Amino acid sequence: MAKKAFINCNLLDGTREMVLQEGVTVLVENNRITAVGRDVSVPSDAEKIDLTGKYMMPGMINAHIHLPSSGMPGGSSRTPEQVQKMKKSKIIMAVMKYLCKKAAKTQLLSGTTTVRTVGGVDEIDSTLRDEINAGKYLGPRILAANAAVSVPGGHMAGVLAFEATSPEEGVQFVDRIAKDNPDLIKLMVTGGVLDGKRGEPGELKMDPAIIKACCDEAHKLGYYVAAHVESPEGVKAALENGVDTIEHGAKPDEYIIKLFKERNAADICTISPAAPIAMIDPKILKLPEDAQFNGEIVLKGIVDCAKECLANDIPVGLGTDAGCPWVFHYDTWRELAYFSKYLGVSHECSIYTATLGNAKILGIDKETGSVEPGKSADLLVLKGNPLVDFKTLSTPEMVVMKGHIIRNPKIKKHEDIDRQLDEIYERL
Ligand SMILES: [Zn+2]
Repeated sequence: MAKKAFINCNLLDGTREMVLQEGVTVLVENNRITAVGRDVSVPSDAEKIDLTGKYMMPGMINAHIHLPSSGMPGGSSRTPEQVQKMKKSKIIMAVMKYLCKKAAKTQLLSGTTTVRTVGGVDEIDSTLRDEINAGKYLGPRILAANAAVSVPGGHMAGVLAFEATSPEEGVQFVDRIAKDNPDLIKLMVTGGVLDGKRGEPGELKMDPAIIKACCDEAHKLGYYVAAHVESPEGVKAALENGVDTIEHGAKPDEYIIKLFKERNAADICTISPAAPIAMIDPKILKLPEDAQFNGEIVLKGIVDCAKECLANDIPVGLGTDAGCPWVFHYDTWRELAYFSKYLGVSHECSIYTATLGNAKILGIDKETGSVEPGKSADLLVLKGNPLVDFKTLSTPEMVVMKGHIIRNPKIKKHEDIDRQLDEIYERL
């Protein structure tokens, strides 16, 4: 049926001022929300869906994910040489595409109706985006960066990123990525948790001249630039040279706050990969001691960056970094819980950040992010109230993607690992 009326909703509409509204009707025609309110009359030809006792909010937006890996901890990471060899095999690449497609589907079934990918294999992410948009199969809305640009020895170099040795080469890689019509360009500016020296997890790896050349070229072609950055030095270099969204972040000083404002840049908070490192028993974590030490520095940097940005009215979004160890594609909800707890903000603030706030940063707020007339019908129906307990987000009763209803979505989960993560949730 083309017309659907969700009646008796307890609605959280995703806007910054959201308050729980009871007894609301949400009308959907084809893929659009056409009316929202208590006095909306239901057309006789609409399918009525009674949500008495249930809660509705916009589908979540996960602003930072990697489709090629599942998030299963303990997997062996591949060397750039192995990856290049694998890419030569058509069969391996077909399997890779299948795994990415499955990851995207998992995001959707768990209530994430929009994802932004920030480092993938070749052009797989934008291919999936185009296939989903063409209606070949159901998936989330994808904003795709495809492969990123790094430097030799840099974060994800040769695995999910090209290795630029000079500004000229950086420009060539941006042009090459742009051929597949991505939605943004991703740079790897600093090292990460697992590839940094002890005490220096966010070592600046990309020469500022390369950052600038890549940003200038991306902007010229109409793309904004997201950058992996995990140290104050890296945030400075990124913002001074044209980066638009700082992924992860690090403790900012006054100068960095000024740069954020001048550049109209945003911070994307990703606590999900860092919290387990700080909270789970090292014996279970099986990480080298240095990595754990660095993980705690990075976690603090991520939290400090988001806190300071919020305090200074700089846009803060959130993403899970799904695909990193301990971060599954069905766990967007955990980032909302971490966001509230670590930043000391209300549940409403976390929900806003994961919906309309993220939509604004990603430039898609006219299309999605809130339950308002004219927007895409990207909705979530929950059994419980997420203002009381975020965990209700982990088992949505219904996910609505562009008006298409998925009832009681089933996802294969990793119960043993979920239990470890739930323990963190309970201790928060
Ligand atoms: Zn990432």
